[in-house]
Amino acid sequence: MKDFRSSAARGVTPYVCGEQPDDREYIKLNANENAYPPSPRALEAMRAQMEKLQYYPDLTSAGLRRAIADAHGIRPEQVYVGNGSDEVLAFSFLTFFAGKTLCAPDLTYSFYPCYAKLFGVDYREAPLREDFSVDVEALLGGEGDVILANPNAPTSLELSQGTIREMAERLNRQGRLLIVDEAYAAFGTGTAIPLIDAYPNVLVIRTFSKAHALAGLRIGYAVGQEALIEALNGVKDSINSYPLDRLAAAAAQAAIEDTAYLEQTVSLICQTRDRTAQRLAKLGMTVLPSRTNFLFATHPDVPARTLLQALREDGILVRHFSHPRLENYLRITVGTDEQMDRVVRGVERAIGRA
Ligand SMILES: *Cc1c(COP(=O)(O)O)cnc(C)c1O
Repeated sequence: MKDFRSSAARGVTPYVCGEQPDDREYIKLNANENAYPPSPRALEAMRAQMEKLQYYPDLTSAGLRRAIADAHGIRPEQVYVGNGSDEVLAFSFLTFFAGKTLCAPDLTYSFYPCYAKLFGVDYREAPLREDFSVDVEALLGGEGDVILANPNAPTSLELSQGTIREMAERLNRQGRLLIVDEAYAAFGTGTAIPLIDAYPNVLVIRTFSKAHALAGLRIGYAVGQEALIEALNGVKDSINSYPLDRLAAAAAQAAIEDTAYLEQTVSLICQTRDRTAQRLAKLGMTVLPSRTNFLFATHPDVPARTLLQALREDGILVRHFSHPRLENYLRITVGTDEQMDRVVRGVERAIGRA
């Protein structure tokens, strides 16, 4: 049969998400979703929009961009919003990297190489060090623009803001763009957002899916100097002028304005995270020092696949990657205390049996 696909479509290797099986009820700790529901104010704000669904949403998502700007002490003109940070990332790749060279750590968010392939980016991978930390020299030593997730996924490790600033400075002198994907920054110790004032080459990308517990609504954003934001808007308006619907924009605005709820849930998750890490370490696991809402862990004697299978039998889904350097690790989303009790007990049983 004739292959009707364009050459771009023939070249794609789609990203594979955490599975969502429905053969039974699972505790879902495989997609780094929030352990808690979103702010009640987000739900209220959505309800108010229900009356207006026959009308297109605001073209510029002005209310949401102002709320994001206020939350970070920047101006709305420095904020771009999109349908999940995955879409913001895709538009960023198209806007800034298509046909150019881009460097990224070899072990990072696996959507980056997908976009690179789709948009004809010359994508170069700098190996992480043996301990999974970012090798800044390897990352910056080549040519081209740079993208990195900070904290990184699936390693859960965070680079200091001092290091990010040095990277921004050096890349700026060389006329190279730096994108920092801060999907997990709310669970970490800092943000690169204050850098955008001084550095025209820095774009920070964030999501409402993790700390704000709105994965189901698909909202992400990018912040940077106006020239970068205008460039993104130019591409967006050539594809989809209204990437954010009324419900999503209203909920996201209410969620980011409800700082008390955000602080409370993030702090609960970080406490559960650190407690669970200690308990898994007591069981002999090596757990990387996480600055995210997930744990990246391995056991010296029990293979990750064995643990994965044992947890699955206990009704718990966690994430496993088949990359040779990752295959003996599990990425476990931090759920509620009760859910993490189940994880610890499941791991304990699996180790006992092994
Ligand atoms: C979850 C995640 C995203 C995607 O976020 P969405 O807004 O849900 O598309 C982007 N980058 C990293 C590193 C992530 O872990």
